[in-house]
Amino acid sequence: MFIKQIIYLICLLTSCVSAQNIGKVLEPAESLVSKSDEIDELLEQTNAIRTSDYSQFSKNLTTLSKLQKQFTFNQSCSFRFLTAYQTGLTGEVENSILQFQAIKSDCQAMPVVVEVESLLANMYAISGEYQLALTSLDNMLSKIESISDESLRLLVYSSAYLVYDLLNQNQLSHDFAQIVIDFSPKPKPKQLCSAYVHKYISLIKLHLAEDLDKEIKDVLDYCRQNGENLYAEGLNVNWIDYKLKLAETNLETQKVYEMLQSSSDSIMSTQYKNIIVFKDSLMARILEQLNRKEEAVEYAKRALEGTITLGNSQQKIDALKVLYNYYESIGDYQQANTYLLEKNLTEIKYYSDKQEKLMAYQTIKHDSLAKQHQIKTLNQQNEVLMLEKELAVKSKANQLLLTYLFGSLVILLLYIGYRIRKQQKIYKSLSEMDYMTKIYNRKGMKDYMEYMLPYSEKKAEVIAFSIFDLDLFKKINDEYGHTVGDWVIKATVEACKQLEYDKATFARLGGEEFAIIMRDSSLEDIKGFAEKCRSAIYSIETNYETGHRFNISASFGITTTEISGYDLTQLLKDADEALYKSKENGRNQVTTFSPASD
Ligand code: GH3
Ligand code: MG
Ligand code: MG
Repeated sequence: MFIKQIIYLICLLTSCVSAQNIGKVLEPAESLVSKSDEIDELLEQTNAIRTSDYSQFSKNLTTLSKLQKQFTFNQSCSFRFLTAYQTGLTGEVENSILQFQAIKSDCQAMPVVVEVESLLANMYAISGEYQLALTSLDNMLSKIESISDESLRLLVYSSAYLVYDLLNQNQLSHDFAQIVIDFSPKPKPKQLCSAYVHKYISLIKLHLAEDLDKEIKDVLDYCRQNGENLYAEGLNVNWIDYKLKLAETNLETQKVYEMLQSSSDSIMSTQYKNIIVFKDSLMARILEQLNRKEEAVEYAKRALEGTITLGNSQQKIDALKVLYNYYESIGDYQQANTYLLEKNLTEIKYYSDKQEKLMAYQTIKHDSLAKQHQIKTLNQQNEVLMLEKELAVKSKANQLLLTYLFGSLVILLLYIGYRIRKQQKIYKSLSEMDYMTKIYNRKGMKDYMEYMLPYSEKKAEVIAFSIFDLDLFKKINDEYGHTVGDWVIKATVEACKQLEYDKATFARLGGEEFAIIMRDSSLEDIKGFAEKCRSAIYSIETNYETGHRFNISASFGITTTEISGYDLTQLLKDADEALYKSKENGRNQVTTFSPASD
């Protein structure tokens, strides 16, 4: 049952080439296989049933292990790959990673290394080792020049969109999915459907899917026609979720309800927990909006049950919100509070994980962007490479290794072994987050800077730094109350975060004082960004949410590591001094620290 679950999840994440072989169980030769060709064949068969028949897979490995002495170098690399894969399947994920790393260094020139690296990248991403995932991805992208085989290049691109998707880097995930879609020769339907699905999910997450009804419907049809219901429904629930967010009137919500209702059976038939939970939580929200409260509660509870093994997600938060609202509305405050507490805890864990992903991405991004550029150029050269390839003689061993592609990601699912370590990490990040605004608190900022400063100094990159403080905030509290004051703090952070400049990291230093850290940025960059942020804060519309019309403004002080050095205490001191100047000169402005004024 568990293995089946894993295969489902893997199939969602990968293209599952091997899954096509489900049911085709191949018996290993009983007598001792001796010819090299036969060993190749057995290796190939074993690889093919990797995701579909575990017991046959492990029998084949036992047979193969008796033939080790006759292995060629290539065969030995392939065999070790399968063994490492089996180690992962038995739950020893760390051990499996070690084996993969050893294969990586021993089989250096072999195509198998690309597969190993792609497997590692995905495993790392799923298990929360975000920086390692990106480093592995970078490694692969840097090797792509030397890969003449299309299937392998396709594997790298596919891994890239999967890893970027797991890291919430939606634009990059979209771009790599597009590379797969445009790939020549045309990818297999399963690969194509997966790429299309990831492309449109990325666009939905980027809020760029408003006019894509027709295109998304085509993708759903394409995937369904090719038997890829899991992918189809994965996209479908995201699409309906997006529609719900856009729905403004009761009639529109009713339409969304009908959309989900009519997909319900095919969603259930995927038997895939993630999608079913998504559906239930979506249904709970829709019914809540339609004022069908009791039914909403039923669905929310069902969704919540489903999340027990899935961990923290937006769907869990949504379901808890529906439950909290309901029990509050009927006056059962004890029950309401229980759900509220759980919702808050889930929310903070969920956001701290998001923050961690962003931080990993910001740290590694520089290198991967450079390589992304290379990929673009390389993709244009694709045709030339293909012609060259026709001339190349394909060795049988290479062919064998190429088939290791997508199914190989099965182990990903075994990240359960990593859960404990992940949990520890979450607790660490909990202490680094500001609950109210979901950004770093002072401690989080300090840890981030302690990591970032030496890193940037080594790379000779400038970090730009700003502190800002809301103007006359006491007055807002006094005039409109603390609740409005809290709302202002949240709205301020939202206004600046919405500027979506991905080099900027925010922290709440305390009260209504915040920091902006911008890696690899100049004084001009932060001056521009602080100015935009100041103006966004000043434009916040207060009347709708608070019932009072007033202006919010903030004063900024800025500096950089060029001016203040790679030293956090000095950066804070100098930015604070500049901030003080902004206050002195009439507030609602940005001031650059000038050493002369010290
Ligand atoms: P200035 O322009 O000089 O900064 O004036 P100010 O009124 O903003 O002065 P100051 O920064 O000293 O005031 C900060 C106030 O913010 C004091 C405190 O009561 C309030 N505050 C701190 N944390 C919170 C919070 O989490 N919520 C709310 N509502 N108020 C807070
Ligand atoms: Mg203030
Ligand atoms: Mg203050």
